[in-house]
Amino acid sequence: MGKQEIATKAHILAIPFPLQGHINPMVQLCKRLVSKGIHVTLLTTASISTTLQIPTGTNPIDIETVPDSNVKETEHLDLYEIFIQSFRASITCGISEIIQKHRKNLKAILYDSLIPWTLDIAHEEGLKGAVLFTQPCTVCSVFYHSHKGTLEISNNDQDFEVSLPGMPVFRVKDLPSLAVDSSSNPSILRLLVDQFSTFEKADWRLFNTFNKLEHEILKWMENQCPILSIGPTIPSMYIDKRIQDNYDYGLNLFKPSSESCMTWLDAKEDHSVVYISFGSLVKLGEKQMEELARGLIDSKRNFLWVIRDPNESDLFQDLTSSPTKQGLIVNWCTQLEVLSHRAIGCFITHCGWNSTLEALSLGVPMVAMPQWTDQMTNAKLITDVWRIGIRVRIDENGIVTRDEIAACVKDVMEGDEIRRNAIHLKNLAIESVSEGGSSDMNVTNFVMQVLST
Ligand code: UDP
Repeated sequence: MGKQEIATKAHILAIPFPLQGHINPMVQLCKRLVSKGIHVTLLTTASISTTLQIPTGTNPIDIETVPDSNVKETEHLDLYEIFIQSFRASITCGISEIIQKHRKNLKAILYDSLIPWTLDIAHEEGLKGAVLFTQPCTVCSVFYHSHKGTLEISNNDQDFEVSLPGMPVFRVKDLPSLAVDSSSNPSILRLLVDQFSTFEKADWRLFNTFNKLEHEILKWMENQCPILSIGPTIPSMYIDKRIQDNYDYGLNLFKPSSESCMTWLDAKEDHSVVYISFGSLVKLGEKQMEELARGLIDSKRNFLWVIRDPNESDLFQDLTSSPTKQGLIVNWCTQLEVLSHRAIGCFITHCGWNSTLEALSLGVPMVAMPQWTDQMTNAKLITDVWRIGIRVRIDENGIVTRDEIAACVKDVMEGDEIRRNAIHLKNLAIESVSEGGSSDMNVTNFVMQVLST
């Protein structure tokens, strides 16, 4: 896009929450907005921008930074809270200058639902505010009930049945763990509940999901307040080569390993490899890692395993690679490229929402190994509602044993019905983002409304 062309375009300032699982959907949505004629500038802090791996070549999105304001450590604040408050202080201090700089065509701020205070800034500056929810609507609705005081769980027994409008009957253990046990992480729980503090006041509410995936709950949420489902926010080149914005672009906080996963995968047969990743935050204990490694070896299948910590990856590299070269361990990969490779047969996942949507949109069946918060609910959706995966059982010592891992891998790799369901959902995902699909229309409507602001 030439400078002159940009100068006349409607402009949106996008602010992702600075974690990988929030940056990815925001960046992909921005890329789609750009493809529909909007100029987008992404705003983050100076320190975050130095860790971002910005792709070389033409960037569809401009990036602006504000200086970091560090909140001092005190005994009243835990690490999460310091991180959250520092980000808030940095954005609040620096944003006015950025808004003034781009004032001419700036129409709206697009912000992550975890930073709802951004809406007040937008309105004070005379701009509109669009909030992006990066978790499934099912999970969001649970926190909506928490916010409204309508989440009543009269029995904390993990198997107790909970009935919420628009949702299948869930057991306590299927709800986001933080919504059930408020004592374990009060600052994160507050963050999740506060997503709804300015919900009704926002000018647009966007959800990273699609109509046919969460139909009932989206309908229920729509009855509370108008919403737009715009997902899955995945670069179209991975799900449908016919769609127009057909190039990859992403901002990673981690550097992909130098080993070439793709060359390694190229040498493997179709649907023969197990891919394992627990996302950008989860860390398994030593005993669990060992059981996982042994289970993978016992499965007798090739596997590609992302272990972010280099010390741990070295340890397990020795165990799993030699002498059979059965597995490849990397510290980070381009997950979409891996998941869309023909050699991948199943995905052992922590069920983060992005990983779930990515696997679902690429038709990859899953072994669900959720660890906390929304992952419990996502695992329930994967296994019992959409039936595109199997959930591991935890033994009496809180461990998923090697036998359990090997058995689940076998069942998922060989399960015809699961694979058929996965392909069905993949087709629905493609349909929703293809021209004229429900999510595509919602993005177009959003763009039209921004343009007429
Ligand atoms: N991811 C990646 N490479 C990796 C592991 C993860 O690119 O080696 C990406 C993945 O595609 C997803 C995101 O990181 O988009 C993780 O988000 P998710 O919601 O699944 O989990 P979180 O990290 O938030 O727990």
